[in-house]
Amino acid sequence: MKVKCPTCKKKVEWKDNPYRPFCSERCKLIDLGAWASGEYKIEGKLEDELEKILSESEKERKEKDNA
Ligand SMILES: [Zn+2]
Repeated sequence: MKVKCPTCKKKVEWKDNPYRPFCSERCKLIDLGAWASGEYKIEGKLEDELEKILSESEKERKEKDNA
């Protein structure tokens, strides 16, 4: 039996497919990402925060060097 992957619409074998109804782990993650996109946004925000903190501590270090 074959099913259509909801992500890429490719026909995939249902039997012995660990990612069903998806064709691959990638498509499964893409679909999960669709509803978990809020979470991804938070992650992105955290990365921004981290970058800000890092650049600020870098700035502080430079200011200390000048003093
Ligand atoms: Zn797919």
